[in-house]
Amino acid sequence: MTAHILIVEDEAALSTLLTYNLEKEGFSVRVAGDGEQAIDALAEEQPDLVLLDWMLPHLSGIEICRRIRRDPATSGLPVIMLTAKGEESDRIRGLDTGADDYVTKPFSPAELVARVRALLRRARPSIGADSLTAGEIVMDLAAHRVHVGGADVELGPTEFKLLRHFMEHPGRVYSRDQILDAVWGRDVHVEDRTVDVHIGRLRKALRAAAGRDPIRTVRGAGYSLEA
Ligand code: CA
Repeated sequence: MTAHILIVEDEAALSTLLTYNLEKEGFSVRVAGDGEQAIDALAEEQPDLVLLDWMLPHLSGIEICRRIRRDPATSGLPVIMLTAKGEESDRIRGLDTGADDYVTKPFSPAELVARVRALLRRARPSIGADSLTAGEIVMDLAAHRVHVGGADVELGPTEFKLLRHFMEHPGRVYSRDQILDAVWGRDVHVEDRTVDVHIGRLRKALRAAAGRDPIRTVRGAGYSLEA
């Protein structure tokens, strides 16, 4: 599992508990303490799922969810809303917030993790799978091997991670910065052209095995894998 979860929650004790339980299950987690931080985090790096508290200072969870749905870049993002027990949770279910699921506080971390997994499976069937497929490319995640039309693709560890990221999000365009964050990590300093070097190696390896290169350069925007 390499899914990135954004937790939007102003109660530090709860976000710490959620972070601990999600990281233990192999998710990578980012926490936003209020609505503004959540909007910034979404603009910086799109997560695979958002856990969104309803009661937040300034911008409410409902307003953030509506913004997520309005913006074409995030409209398909899976959202689980955290609501307080009692009539609030009944009321929120009656509102058209656009959330995919609701979890009522207090909840057990195990239940929440199960809901996260279920929603991710619905939204992105590739998560938790043993292999990924994109066109002719098949990636065996357990054996760390890649085939194209039956031919082996020889990849270094960075090229493997790069290809995996593209295969998990086929058709989506990623900027160099977004690729750096996803493949090298947010806290690692790597030059932009390092991305180009590794993309170049990945393309060469795919071309050698398949006779063609499915990575598209989008001028001024970045790279994507042909869907
Ligand atoms: Ca709250």
